[in-house]
Amino acid sequence: MAPRGCCGRGMVESPSMDGTSPQDTAYEDRPSRSPWIAQLAADGPPRPLAEDTRADVVIVGAGIAGVAAAFFTLRETTARVLLVERDRVGRGATGRNAGQLTTYFERPLCDIADEFGVEMAAAGQRGFDDAHGLLDLMVAESEASVRVERFTGHMGMFNLHHVLVHLRSNLVRRQGGLRLETCLVSDEAAFASAIPAELDGLYTLVPQARIRELLETRDDRYSAVLSDRKGCANSGLLVQQVLANLEQRYPERFRFVDHTPVDRVVVGEDRVVAHGRGHTVTSSQVVLCTNGFVDHLVTDRLGAPIGLAPDQQVTGRVAYMTAFVDHPRPPAAMSYIRNPTIGGDTAYVYVTRRTYDRPDDTVTLTCMGGPEYPFHEAGYDPDTPFPGPLLGAMDQEVRPFAQPARPPGLPYDFQWHGLMGYNAGGVRVVGAHPRHPRLYYNLGCNGVGFLPSIYGGERIAHLLAGERLTPSIFDPR
Ligand SMILES: Cc1cc2nc3c(=O)[nH]c(=O)nc-3n(C[C@H](O)[C@H](O)[C@H](O)COP(=O)(O)OP(=O)(O)OC[C@H]3O[C@@H](n4cnc5c(N)ncnc54)[C@H](O)[C@@H]3O)c2cc1C
Repeated sequence: MAPRGCCGRGMVESPSMDGTSPQDTAYEDRPSRSPWIAQLAADGPPRPLAEDTRADVVIVGAGIAGVAAAFFTLRETTARVLLVERDRVGRGATGRNAGQLTTYFERPLCDIADEFGVEMAAAGQRGFDDAHGLLDLMVAESEASVRVERFTGHMGMFNLHHVLVHLRSNLVRRQGGLRLETCLVSDEAAFASAIPAELDGLYTLVPQARIRELLETRDDRYSAVLSDRKGCANSGLLVQQVLANLEQRYPERFRFVDHTPVDRVVVGEDRVVAHGRGHTVTSSQVVLCTNGFVDHLVTDRLGAPIGLAPDQQVTGRVAYMTAFVDHPRPPAAMSYIRNPTIGGDTAYVYVTRRTYDRPDDTVTLTCMGGPEYPFHEAGYDPDTPFPGPLLGAMDQEVRPFAQPARPPGLPYDFQWHGLMGYNAGGVRVVGAHPRHPRLYYNLGCNGVGFLPSIYGGERIAHLLAGERLTPSIFDPR
């Protein structure tokens, strides 16, 4: 996978960047506490599935992927929709992310173009880019009060390889008629003269001081910057507010049940039956928005399992984040590649800064992320404490980027972790199963899933409305 800066895999490295030693910043294990879940309204009483029922479309999973699918399906069709959640709304990755609005693939776009062709790769990228507009539509039509901030974000690069990969991806953008990302290269960078002429016009040489200023760092290892449209929002609060609005707007056509784990989905030729809490829901179509984790069995009528192509099957990684209340600063999204080769397994780190509303005041919250680890057979428990040594490592490695003026070893206001769904192909899965057309997917975040889930929700709605869409890089295989 190619670390592009939001949610990359990798370990936090040592030694530290600011000269302090790990023992200066010893932390205890702390409860996992997400700033986004802390902002949610009370959920009200649980409402599990209490009887056998019917719907036209059943959506499994009430994170951003499922709520977006419900929003657009109700908007684009006349279907009766049932949304089924095993926990409460917005408590999965949607309530435990960095909340950054960004539209890159964690795999370089030029690689995706090599596999699928420039036209299909560019169409996929356009879909993600346009999801900014879909988010605004969801917020406006749902009359959601969730705060959405937008600004230009920056990623720091330090070698020719990083710059070439991103310039080649920019070339795909240009060939596909998309907006270009801005690439600035320091006129002091030793590799600047080695950038091939075919990439001329896709970057600009600037003084090193400009790189430093954009990246807010004095670390002159970084000699190039890629900048693009970014933003921040609380996706957990967004889905809670959109869901409440859907229940009001579509009382006849929309129902939500929670505390209902779907343990089996049987996809027949004429209908789908989902099983949960000892009851069944019979529908014409089912949309899996479960972040890709298969603790539910999906079979055909005869009991044979139905799955995706090997490179589309999702495996999970647990990603760790921490945040502190900062003195007032403008919103920002910054990332710093740490590995010499894109796709390597060493660290890169990312920092987001946003306006954060608390019950009695509004502050600046700076969030730091980077480390990700595979989770083990025992599964992932969102209530597992945040490991103290990892907090110490992040304090050493990421804090100097996030806020150099913050001394090491201070307590953090939040520290939390969440589950990310990656697949080997590095591309989200959106659409109907090729051999089981009643079964739809909107999952496989590959590190970046806020806007892509919304894009997927809208695409699913068009498919459910009976539209024939051109083949895409997201099609299930
Ligand atoms: C630490 C971290 C940082 C991230 N940062 C960013 C970022 O800055 N920007 C970005 O774009 N993306 C980011 N992501 C990814 C993004 O958060 C996810 O892609 C997105 O939230 C996934 O939404 P979802 O609806 O697919 O999954 P989820 O939010 O996990 O929702 C899936 C839901 O399905 C339910 N479910 C699962 N199985 C069943 C079942 N059998 N029956 C009933 N319900 C079920 C779950 O309980 C859950 O509520 C980050 C993720 C993490 C973990």
